[in-house]
Amino acid sequence: MNQCAEKLLTWYDHHHRPLPWRQEINIYHTWVCEVMSQQTTLAVVVPKFSEFVKHLPTVYHLAACDEEKLRQLWSGLGYYARARNLNKGANYIVEQLDGHFPQSYREWLQIPGCGPYTASVIASICFNEKVACVDGNIVRVVSRLLALSEDVWSSSGQSAIQTHVTQMIPDERPGDFNQAMMELGATVCRKSKPLCLLCPLQEQCLAFARNCIEICPPKKPRREVVDVELFALLVWRKATGTLAIVNRTKGFLSNTVGFPLIPAIEISQAKEVLQSLQHLQLFELPSKFSHNITHHRISGKVLVAQEVENPGITIETIAWQNFGLPQPFNWVSSSVIASKLSTALDNKVFKLFQNYQDKVR
Ligand code: SF4
Repeated sequence: MNQCAEKLLTWYDHHHRPLPWRQEINIYHTWVCEVMSQQTTLAVVVPKFSEFVKHLPTVYHLAACDEEKLRQLWSGLGYYARARNLNKGANYIVEQLDGHFPQSYREWLQIPGCGPYTASVIASICFNEKVACVDGNIVRVVSRLLALSEDVWSSSGQSAIQTHVTQMIPDERPGDFNQAMMELGATVCRKSKPLCLLCPLQEQCLAFARNCIEICPPKKPRREVVDVELFALLVWRKATGTLAIVNRTKGFLSNTVGFPLIPAIEISQAKEVLQSLQHLQLFELPSKFSHNITHHRISGKVLVAQEVENPGITIETIAWQNFGLPQPFNWVSSSVIASKLSTALDNKVFKLFQNYQDKVR
């Protein structure tokens, strides 16, 4: 075993955090915790993971889980698309593989929603496969070990790091090695104020030796922020106290459930169509909402279309043919709608609507 791996594994044996999915190797738990941990802190993940596997203890339970329960179990973790992908993957395993988990990195890549990183974590931890896991933490550790202050984030830079980590992985305990690298990045070789005096790889670290930790890795180039102006359409059926939500199938909020969204540029045309429907009363809420998603900076208004009498012809059939919003509508009581909305943006929109109602009551 190379010296780096030996030192790292000894350190890991003594210092790793006792996380619930580390108690024994379980493919299902490794998969779920890995997907949960992407973009969410462990402090949030740990209690949610325990609750998730208590309610959905096997891949069969996950495959059979309905959208509402899945959303409840995922609430607080963010990026709900990850939960949908888990559910899709579970269905594939149950239906196509007869409930048997794939047994290698390559096989895991065939599972819908499973990318190279997730596949590498599962394959190395559960099947002792020598495949490198490279996430942001590991890029930082390797950049510092090799004193890389440029060209880390390009695809060639990433594949150089992948190659380096692959060379470091020992034949024995590849899964523990990958976990040790992640643990080192999360707890010792931190983004700011790394704890170099406690680091098992200090002697091997070129950035430490050259006193250039601050610039390794270089800052990630920022994607240009795109401003987006939207109208959220709240179709309010006052007689039944229900609002319309849809499965959005396109745009940057595709595969989410929420209110129909209309680009500001199309709002005049949409209003014209809606105003032609006699049974609708149309008005804008006075407050705006704003929300950021990755590199999108969204600002918007809420357009309420309130049904004032029983519709002879529904808004879906007329309005939707004119400006191509997703259908069908699902009419949901306002008392439970919060649990059906999959994004924080929709929750903000609904909050504005509730505030407005409280004022006019
Ligand atoms: Fe990171 Fe410091 Fe260890 Fe180098 S010595 S790997 S900078 S914690």
